[in-house]
Amino acid sequence: MSEVEELSVEQTLEWDTPLFQQALTQFEQALPHADVSESVAERLRFPERALMVSVPVRLDDQRFAVYAAYRVQHSSVLGPTKGGVRFDPDVSLGECAALAMWMTWKCALLRLPYGGAKGGVRCNPKELSQAELQRLTRRYTSELLPVIGPQEDIAAPDMATNEQTMAWMMDTYSMQVGHAVPEIVTGKPISLGGSLFRHEATGAGAVIVIERACQRLGWDLAEQRCVVQGFGNVGGIAATELVGKGAKVLAVSDVSGGAYADDGLDVMAALAWAAEHGSLETFPGVEHISNAELLELPCDILVLAAREDQVTAENAGAVHAKLVAEGANGPTTVEADAILAERGIPVLPDVLTNAGGVTVSYFEWVQDLGRLFWGRDEIRARLAEKLGDAFDRVWDLSAESGISLRSAALVSGIREVAAALTARGIFP
Ligand code: GLU
Repeated sequence: MSEVEELSVEQTLEWDTPLFQQALTQFEQALPHADVSESVAERLRFPERALMVSVPVRLDDQRFAVYAAYRVQHSSVLGPTKGGVRFDPDVSLGECAALAMWMTWKCALLRLPYGGAKGGVRCNPKELSQAELQRLTRRYTSELLPVIGPQEDIAAPDMATNEQTMAWMMDTYSMQVGHAVPEIVTGKPISLGGSLFRHEATGAGAVIVIERACQRLGWDLAEQRCVVQGFGNVGGIAATELVGKGAKVLAVSDVSGGAYADDGLDVMAALAWAAEHGSLETFPGVEHISNAELLELPCDILVLAAREDQVTAENAGAVHAKLVAEGANGPTTVEADAILAERGIPVLPDVLTNAGGVTVSYFEWVQDLGRLFWGRDEIRARLAEKLGDAFDRVWDLSAESGISLRSAALVSGIREVAAALTARGIFP
């Protein structure tokens, strides 16, 4: 009976990879609770636009290399598309499509006037010098010129990209149009129109969400024993904020493995060590454990702030946390979600828990467009208000409907996009 099913063609889509399937399965699980028409649902299963480019880079030794690169825009129904750019060997069309879809739900859940996008360059950034990274970033940006703009698609940092990367993107775009356009990217240096508190926003936002969850669970955050996977911009700041709230951080990890101290780590010392020595590998006075062991440590709160695909069907049964918080995008697979649910371990989903980053990105864009900048306290207060409001909607919907926090978060996001899509209709 469905018009959509009859007319749609059986096809294998180019972006249909395991990570995209994960995003799509989560969408399908939420859909029965979202009350949207099948034609709206079908539209949202597809990214609106996907650009594949190749980026030639002259290396420092005069050899040259070509890198595959992507930008996927999932939905422009609510406004310009928004999302990070990552430099990573695993970047692919499917990965960007999955992450772009998650960005759509994240922005909509937070009621930001954006749709989702994600992009990246498939490279190993650790093997590239600063000069090579600059050339790569500038050429990637110029390849994206036909599809980006402050009212079209706005980039931000993601894995292995940072304020400097955004400064190069902003400069490349600005040189093309002939004047400074700070609002083309967010997560820029403050000197270029970046926002105060954007650097801390994702990690700090995760702790705002965790604190809110503790309140609902009747726990005192200051009494919780936490483990943090990942020690980059998200994990490092989340660990610092947790300690600031009086919680104990028993272990953290980076690519070199985990550092564990049962009576609590000195997070500031670990951060200083990692900054000076490049990793935690030689950090003294702690027990060094593997990343796999870290995920299985007995604790109250496990923060997943490394990358996708970390808690899987293989290890979800061995997670010994009472609450899991997703600081990274997509760290828990669909199978692992089911196992954790079965075991009564709630998961604070990525689209809520790490939404502090894009929320302060939105504040940055608004400040840039208005050429009027806000103070740190104002930004922090506005962030807490936005995240608190989204958290309450997700928690209450999950309790009322008996669905997971992830499905509740997606339902909230999907409903916002669907309402706008229904009102706008399909062009022409
Ligand atoms: N890359 C971050 C994310 O996945 C931030 C995106 C943004 O600020 O636009 O949410």
